Amino acid sequence: VKTLSLVPQSSSGWNLDGVHRRNLSAVLNIVRSSGAVTRAELARVTGLNRSTIGALVAELVELRLVDEGGTDAVHQIGRPSHVITPGGRTVALAVHPSLDAVTISLVGLDGQVIKRVRYETVGTLGVNEVVNVVAAVVAGMRDELESAYSCLGVGLAVPGLVRSGDGLVDLASRMGWRRAPLAQMLGEALRMPVVAASDAVAGAMAETTFGVGAGVGNLVYLEGSGTGIRGAVISNGALLAGERGYAGELGHTLVKTGGAPCACGAEGCLDAEVQLSDLVEAMGLPAGSGPRADDELAEMLASPGLPAGLRHVVDDQLDLLAVTVRNAVNLFNPQLIVLGGFLGVLHQTDPSRLENAVAWSAMRGSRDSVRIVRSSSGGDLVAVGAAQLVFAPIVNDPSLVRAAAG
Ligand SMILES: [Zn+2]
Repeated sequence: VKTLSLVPQSSSGWNLDGVHRRNLSAVLNIVRSSGAVTRAELARVTGLNRSTIGALVAELVELRLVDEGGTDAVHQIGRPSHVITPGGRTVALAVHPSLDAVTISLVGLDGQVIKRVRYETVGTLGVNEVVNVVAAVVAGMRDELESAYSCLGVGLAVPGLVRSGDGLVDLASRMGWRRAPLAQMLGEALRMPVVAASDAVAGAMAETTFGVGAGVGNLVYLEGSGTGIRGAVISNGALLAGERGYAGELGHTLVKTGGAPCACGAEGCLDAEVQLSDLVEAMGLPAGSGPRADDELAEMLASPGLPAGLRHVVDDQLDLLAVTVRNAVNLFNPQLIVLGGFLGVLHQTDPSRLENAVAWSAMRGSRDSVRIVRSSSGGDLVAVGAAQLVFAPIVNDPSLVRAAAG
């Protein structure tokens, strides 16, 4: 259980209502990050007295954001205390289109995937087709959703650049999407609020909430898949968004002068120079028959004595990735660099290569405190992060649930 600051962040919020909302948020944050906690522990961590904690918990129970169950068998000392867990019936839908599938998941407030539907496609879908697929799948779930759950909205993780505010997909080059209002279209089809961001933003949010980056305030996340490479930056605990939400787009940093043309219009971007398809080709597999999951790729690359040609491609990709990682270390001074998808697998084949490159080339002040890790394994990371796009504003201000309901 980490300690959270209860001090108001802005002077404008220095009133009783603001303090109350921040305390609700702090309690909900602790319940989510710990998974289960007693009132006594909440009082100890927040420094609030037990009657205040009782009132805050009761309000969160009423909002269905936490559940309060039986006595905790683990904590025998002192008075028995009820165990508080994240609201089991409060969920979000997560939508993640990719090259060969659309995945729709039902994710609980505790970050657990309750249900997952992977709709495999022949070829890459247009945005209209994605909306139709999601609408059909959600229609099939609607009875269960309405009777058993309280669904707070839809989180859309896009393999591309997404404008904050309206969720416009500015560019998802390998999907063939440019300036596509996918979030708006989904919202109209489903009649639910939709929050969209790139899959790298989703990955970063999942990692900092439940994964390898839990509790880490300064983190850089890079996601690599057949749809390209995208980045996200968490700085001092907040997502670095920039003017329109495009900040942190490390996939389009220059790694090779005069390099390959990139879909963004420039040349020599990481996204253009380091491609999963080159790796699959070097493995001698026909296009489209590559590994179906990152762990499968990891297994293939873990075998001792890789053919020289494949070793060369892996080394080359790691050296190009090192340029972006070095720049990220110098620019953002992160505690953690998290590599998702095939980038994490590349790193895992030879961790010292990237670490040595950063140790040699990044500025001393920043490089000394940074760690480079592969993202939390499991195919659900992006879904959990997409749901977190919906949950995050509510965890930040739980009273939004009441405002939305009434
Ligand atoms: Zn580019």
